[in-house]
Amino acid sequence: MSISLKRSDLEDIIGHARKAFPGEACGFLAGKENMVSKVYRMVNAGQGTMSYSVSIKDQLEATRRMRAEGDDMIGIYHSHPDSRPYPSSKDIRMALHPGCSYLIISLMGGAPEVRSFRIAAGLVKEEPVDVA
Ligand SMILES: [Zn+2]
Repeated sequence: MSISLKRSDLEDIIGHARKAFPGEACGFLAGKENMVSKVYRMVNAGQGTMSYSVSIKDQLEATRRMRAEGDDMIGIYHSHPDSRPYPSSKDIRMALHPGCSYLIISLMGGAPEVRSFRIAAGLVKEEPVDVA
């Protein structure tokens, strides 16, 4: 397993993480199989900097647009403003899509770091991020 995205899309999600700082940014990645074709920035409806959530209405709207464009939801990203790019216990509990890649953008220490994980039944497995 891996996830592939264009450099411009990677820069888009890092830019979103920076814009949301000190809060958490979150969004969806649409595409086919493991190839991202479009980034959907979402509004974080969660409180504070340690959680993220997307309203059901926004989720439905985004997945409807993906289907209309012939894409699937293949990934979910969010930022960690002040912590390592590794899923928190809450991230693991909230990961309900075993077929999705979970990207985490860490802004800890200045230079952004992006890592991707598959999360299924409480188990976390890191996967490579291929930037084309
Ligand atoms: Zn997190």
